[in-house]
Amino acid sequence: MTQIRIPKPISHQKMQDLANLPLFHKLNNRRIIVAGHEVGAMWKAELLAATGAHIDLFLGIPINQEHKRVFDKIENVILHERRWHKDDLKNSALAVCQSISNEDAIAFITAARENSVLVNIIDKPEYCDFTFGAIVNRSPLVIGISTDGASPALGQELRGRLEIMLPQKIAKWLNLAAAWRPKIKKSDLEPKQKRDFWHIFARKALEANIQEPNDELFESLLMQTPSNEGNVSLVGAGPGDPELLTIGALRALQSADVVLVDDLVSQDIIDFVRREADIISVGKRGHKPSNSQDSIIKTMIDHAKAGKNVVRLKGGDVLVFGRATEEIKACEAQGIPIKIIPGITTAQGVAASLGISMTDREYSYKVQYITGSGKNGSLPQGINFDAIADKHATTFVYMPRHTINVFVEKALQSGISRETPAAIIINATRQGQKNIITTIAQIPHCFAEIEYDRPEILIIGDVLKNSNAYHEAMANFKETQKAPELET
Ligand code: SAH
Repeated sequence: MTQIRIPKPISHQKMQDLANLPLFHKLNNRRIIVAGHEVGAMWKAELLAATGAHIDLFLGIPINQEHKRVFDKIENVILHERRWHKDDLKNSALAVCQSISNEDAIAFITAARENSVLVNIIDKPEYCDFTFGAIVNRSPLVIGISTDGASPALGQELRGRLEIMLPQKIAKWLNLAAAWRPKIKKSDLEPKQKRDFWHIFARKALEANIQEPNDELFESLLMQTPSNEGNVSLVGAGPGDPELLTIGALRALQSADVVLVDDLVSQDIIDFVRREADIISVGKRGHKPSNSQDSIIKTMIDHAKAGKNVVRLKGGDVLVFGRATEEIKACEAQGIPIKIIPGITTAQGVAASLGISMTDREYSYKVQYITGSGKNGSLPQGINFDAIADKHATTFVYMPRHTINVFVEKALQSGISRETPAAIIINATRQGQKNIITTIAQIPHCFAEIEYDRPEILIIGDVLKNSNAYHEAMANFKETQKAPELET
């Protein structure tokens, strides 16, 4: 009998080690010392001056034409012809030096330390308290990119891509947001509605190459802000690889208050959940300890009634063997708004990972998804085995293990050829995916050989002949009489 589990909170993963902490430094009207006379020092002085800081640039040589050309119009950079002195570092917010020699660098660092000033020695990361990285500047939006010196070129490439991605008018949108913040703060919107308002704003701002932002937009965004009632989204997480999440799924995860997750959802996907959200495990596994469907529905409804954005996150697609009907009906009965965000079902992930089409002009004109586990875990009554024996069909059997012997026996009785290609795919689209490719007659034996601890799906049909792995497997099978396991 299935053992009972109860819904259980899971904690977010610990933050990964950080090579550097990005901080955003207000420097307006602060004093900064820069030492050096070459391009590096000049560029840093110009960059730092853009923050509104007052820069003392100690050249150590007479001012030349190039210095004049660059700094002519930058009033907050004062050029000094003399070399820096350690007293110059007093009251400096930051200190930057393009050193001529190691001794010079060390003297500068020592002076900086004595004055408790953070220091950057240009092009010598081993001497730096802070580094600059690549910058995307759409102030007030500022994005800093660091690869900790591993590949500045990658930082620059990434900057280029972000520049392309960001709408032209993003700064205008942000200036409006800053002006609207006090209004929203003072409004009588509930905290969840305020969050929803800003998320709607953010989506519009990021899509907005066409729209010119203006104050009228404020009212229109307010109109679009949902009321304070809770809601449920049934979200398909795909078979495991986070690349297979839809944009809709990602958005739902990032605006959720509570996420109820199945065991089949991979940790890589749970990592996308908004950090402030409660994540509750409501796993249900055939023939393993499980949460009852009733307790899952109760947890879902209770949180929605408490005004939360509830995400019910399921492996694969929500509408394929996910008991979605019960959850939809329960929400409808309680008048709770429900949204369905479909996902990529395991069969699609499997076909893509094997590099084969599910339908094929030569081999298959139909695809069928069957469950091996009906009510009470037995083979569902009424499976049409003539359809499974159809030579021109591609069949995926979800939850195949516990009824596999009867399934294959009935398919053979209905006339499926013993040589029909079949494969067990374990952990599809995840790390450690395993493909066991063989023929239908061998399948019960293969299941008996492999231990059951990860999700597995069965695919049957001639479309497998389009995969190179199938031909390798058959050649190997003839030689050794053993079905091979192919790591992908
Ligand atoms: N809604 C899911 C199916 C849920 S039923 C979907 O659309 O894919 C659960 C079954 O799905 C598992 O027993 C297994 O047969 C299959 N499954 C889910 N994820 C899988 C994966 N990553 N690899 C192999 N099979 C998987």
